[in-house]
Amino acid sequence: MIQNSTPIQVWENPLPTDVGNSVEEFLSKLGGPTLLYLPGRDHSRIRAVSTLLHGNEPSGVRAIHHWIRSGEKPVVDLLCFVGSVKAALAAPKFTHRALPWQKDLNRCFLPPFHGTEGQIAEFLIEKLLEAKPEALIDIHNTSGRGPAYGLSLEEDNTHKALVSLFSDTLVITHLRLGTLMELAENHFPSVTIECGGAKDPDSHAVALKGLERYATTESVLTLDGIWMGEVLNNPARLELCDGAKVAYARNPVPDVALTLPEEVEEYNFGILNPREVLGWLGPLGLKMLCVYDAEGKNVLPEYFTERNGCLFATRPLKLFMVTTNPEIAESDCLCYVVAADEK
Ligand SMILES: [Zn+2]
Repeated sequence: MIQNSTPIQVWENPLPTDVGNSVEEFLSKLGGPTLLYLPGRDHSRIRAVSTLLHGNEPSGVRAIHHWIRSGEKPVVDLLCFVGSVKAALAAPKFTHRALPWQKDLNRCFLPPFHGTEGQIAEFLIEKLLEAKPEALIDIHNTSGRGPAYGLSLEEDNTHKALVSLFSDTLVITHLRLGTLMELAENHFPSVTIECGGAKDPDSHAVALKGLERYATTESVLTLDGIWMGEVLNNPARLELCDGAKVAYARNPVPDVALTLPEEVEEYNFGILNPREVLGWLGPLGLKMLCVYDAEGKNVLPEYFTERNGCLFATRPLKLFMVTTNPEIAESDCLCYVVAADEK
């Protein structure tokens, strides 16, 4: 049933009775990164979906498991990739983005493809190029709570149509991080969906509803009507300098570079006003923070300033991908920022 001599296993036509009663059982059966081919009614076309590139983001794989168990046939063939299975299964389940000795798989889609994760990335992209899908949707969760949104490199109706299956918020990014979407976009329309918080049942519902639409809609590349949603352009990443620590607390924590309030996730897609204190800076102030734009330039002064040891926005900002997980904040980023007046 499962072929296993490559960095990724291939499982053709899994039946509803093959995939276990729970998503945990499904992942145990997979055991590692797996491509599942689900035959559709129209074999002349194929669509790709990827998920669990991060082992702590379960909404997408829950949706795929649910879809296979439904026994429904997709309208066209579906190629489903389930990535960081081992990280997801490591106790406590769904808490490891990657295992401690692994690289972040969704930063490895960039040649040269070194190491185990590089090989997985290279093999996946080869398989996708062979399959020539109409589109790719890569399903994630955010580490903090917040509404679902889509990410795309392109702002056209094709990408809006793909995102609209899941959400009415689209973020156009020019940041280059080595993600699957960035590499796949060279070959076919690709979007990333952030379904909202990993533990939030609403996020699972967004993933399932969106996957059902992707699997059952005759044409997913054309907008049904006009796009009524929100488009946010060109986010930058607020990061800590290497080795700098963040704390989430009600009051400033001594000796960390930045203390953010415990409820900072409430800013996800909300507006941060220049009069509001976002957080408390440590002894080295703004020196321990960076804001990187798409060119990799530190543009912090355009976005943030310091007054009396506190961190303020220089102008109204929209924040997203805000997390309260210090590990993610320290190793990846604190959040993404967009000027709220930019459309
Ligand atoms: Zn992710």
